[in-house]
Amino acid sequence: MATTPTVKLNDGNDIPQLGYGVFKVPPADTERAVSEALEVGYRHIDTAAIYGNEEGVGAAIAASDLPRDELFVTTKLWNDRHDGDEPRAAIAESLEKLGLDKVDLYLVHWPTPAHDNYVHAWSKLVELRDAGLTRSIGVSNHLVPHLDRIVAATGVVPAVNQIELHPAHQQRAITEWAAQHDVRIESWGPLGQGKYDLFGAEPVAAAAKAHDKTPAQAVLRWHLQKGFIVFPKSVRRERLEENLDVFDFELTDAEIAAIDAMDRPDGSGRVSAHPDEVN
Ligand code: NAD
Repeated sequence: MATTPTVKLNDGNDIPQLGYGVFKVPPADTERAVSEALEVGYRHIDTAAIYGNEEGVGAAIAASDLPRDELFVTTKLWNDRHDGDEPRAAIAESLEKLGLDKVDLYLVHWPTPAHDNYVHAWSKLVELRDAGLTRSIGVSNHLVPHLDRIVAATGVVPAVNQIELHPAHQQRAITEWAAQHDVRIESWGPLGQGKYDLFGAEPVAAAAKAHDKTPAQAVLRWHLQKGFIVFPKSVRRERLEENLDVFDFELTDAEIAAIDAMDRPDGSGRVSAHPDEVN
């Protein structure tokens, strides 16, 4: 079984660069799907309180005989729990469902700027980390103004920013900010959530063909070579295996550049919600 490479976070912790995301995996199917993911070699699971499937993730972890320190588990604080001491109650509930005494990474899921409480939420995550309930902390769906504000207010730079990112939507302002501040980017929707013809696009199809790989594998390889962390979702074992089988080839600089050129800098490649509009 190929070992997934890890990347170093700015707090010194290591994260497997490729994992398994369980957004929209039905709760009743989650234990099976995560168990299969662990069997085929995934060691990094990305869930969230709002996905409603933390219990299934926990059941699969409990059923596996993997040592806890070989697993990397991320979950996220939902939008209606930013205020007061709610983040502490929320992480306690997530840990209970996951059957863990700490997670590896806890994220503020969305900034919900209309409520103007993401700075408070971030300051609470710092406390949760200091209390040992999560090893690392980060944010998700944070735009540059949100990032600037949380860092100015707390002096604590998130370990990651998990954002929608795929070839048609490359989020260059945020990735440049992240590079300047030593923040790792996690690409959610790395395959565009299947919402546009990513796999038929010429640069992707050509790279796949050249390396005798599938278009999904070529896209995942692009993310990895850009330094992004990814956790594609599938509930099918053969796709779980396919998505993990991306460590035996390398895209050329020209292939990377051709996929880079698929970006739509006007934002029209976005397939999901704009962070300013999720409140
Ligand atoms: P994705 O880009 O991973 O697309 C998933 C879809 O791609 C699947 O439904 C499947 O139909 C298809 N697919 C997967 N593997 C394939 C393959 N090998 N060949 C062909 N098709 C394939 O989208 P996603 O699930 O939204 O994103 C991945 C993860 O990111 C989620 O599961 C979740 O953990 C995270 N996420 C986070 C946020 C956030 O707001 N932080 C939002 C969405 C997703």
